[in-house]
Amino acid sequence: MIEPVARLEAIRDDALSLADRLQRDMEAVAEARESANVDDEHDPEGSTIAYERSQLDAIRRSALERAGDASAALDRIGDGTFGRCERCGARIGGARLEARPTARLCIDCAR
Ligand SMILES: [Zn+2]
Repeated sequence: MIEPVARLEAIRDDALSLADRLQRDMEAVAEARESANVDDEHDPEGSTIAYERSQLDAIRRSALERAGDASAALDRIGDGTFGRCERCGARIGGARLEARPTARLCIDCAR
């Protein structure tokens, strides 16, 4: 079976660098807010900034999650459990792994 190490490494590295960039963006937003001395609760611009920040954070979290999933899949390649459903132990279909190399569950368990 094909072990998509390079692909998973690319997914992980892309996600990590995205998370990194978002972290810096969030810091920039926080700094801009500080220097503007905006009151989040009462200033309409403040709530826009807070919203923007929470959006960035949500994207950052999902990027970190993706990086974690890719790392976990790489670990499974390392210990030989890659391609096995974590719940029922069945083989995960090749097409599913092709589309989603980070899949932990077979298509039946994922439903
Ligand atoms: Zn399963």
